[in-house]
Amino acid sequence: MGLELTDLDAPDGFERLVRARDTAAGLDALICVHSTVLGPAAGGCRMWDYGSDAEAIADVTRLARGMTFKNAMAGLGLGGGKSVIIGNARTDKTPALMRAFGEAVDTLKGSYYTAEDVGISPQDMAYAAEHTAYAVGLSGASGDPSPWTAEGVFRCLRVGAAHVFGDDVLIGRRVLIQGLGHVGMSLAEKLHEAGADLIVTDIHEAALDAASRELDARICQPDEIFDQQFDIFAPCALGGVLNSASVARLSARLVCGAANNQLASDNIADRLRARNITYLPDYVVNAGGIISVASEIHGRDDAWRRARLDGIAGRVAEMLNRADTEDRSTTDVADEMVHNMLREASVSA
Ligand code: NAD
Repeated sequence: MGLELTDLDAPDGFERLVRARDTAAGLDALICVHSTVLGPAAGGCRMWDYGSDAEAIADVTRLARGMTFKNAMAGLGLGGGKSVIIGNARTDKTPALMRAFGEAVDTLKGSYYTAEDVGISPQDMAYAAEHTAYAVGLSGASGDPSPWTAEGVFRCLRVGAAHVFGDDVLIGRRVLIQGLGHVGMSLAEKLHEAGADLIVTDIHEAALDAASRELDARICQPDEIFDQQFDIFAPCALGGVLNSASVARLSARLVCGAANNQLASDNIADRLRARNITYLPDYVVNAGGIISVASEIHGRDDAWRRARLDGIAGRVAEMLNRADTEDRSTTDVADEMVHNMLREASVSA
């Protein structure tokens, strides 16, 4: 039969939602283009064993919209999109499946660029890239985006520290990092080098041992985060860590980390503000990886990537000042900045 594509009803405000199936290759995927107002959509491909179609659709649409915001704020000339492959990345993923996925991406003719996300490696992208020019984040090109994400979070964290504590010197500042994966470990190394006192937590022992041994980090259990005393919280695991119960117990005065969707719901931004905790919106500070991927899409060099990283730190400073002057949450200010960019681009189109 080969590849079958079906256009599904996209939610209001979304441009396209496509289902791609190839039974022989074992592919069942969704590709969502939220917006191409600022340029072709770009966002990673996630492979996950979703419990239902509704769950997969909810995830791909939420993530695609998030990419529109992230790419706009980072000034990348890219819109927002995302894809999900339904299945278990450990047991169901094959080169044939990834090649079929590449074919599916190619049918969108460049309105969507894909890259790695949860469950997808550079090697998987290389299989997809055999069938499309719109698979990026390839080894030998822009490569692993994680170190760039960590560098962006680190720079923004310094801007946040200057705002909250009056200076960006991190010597002796207590930083708790949740999740020592690709981004969290790289961030831990940078913070250690800058003299911060680290508290780390993860569900895997090996990463904790390495951080304790090499970075002099203190270890806490994943469910003990909110019993600890620290100055800065860096969520680098999964989303939803900040909810009304955890915010009520959080000792930090600044939150800056890589995890996507850190706020369990929108109203948590106001709860943080009410407790005088400064939150740097995740989609602003974790854009380093997509900046790196964008350099590959646009054929730009290292200097371009670094300038864009400086750009997100500059935006954070602007956002913090506006939030203070206008007595609003940082999330509110950041979202408005993106809405204005989209409106201006639509008007001038
Ligand atoms: P990763 O899978 O390499 O690392 C995640 C780490 O979190 C793992 O070590 C895992 O064991 C740990 N973890 C999971 N649940 C936990 C829990 N309950 N408590 C403590 N630790 C837990 O992922 P990553 O690439 O480092 O990404 C981290 C986060 O940053 C994710 O939310 C990801 O979506 C986001 N992000 C990553 C990038 C990137 O470039 N990799 C870019 C933007 C956003």
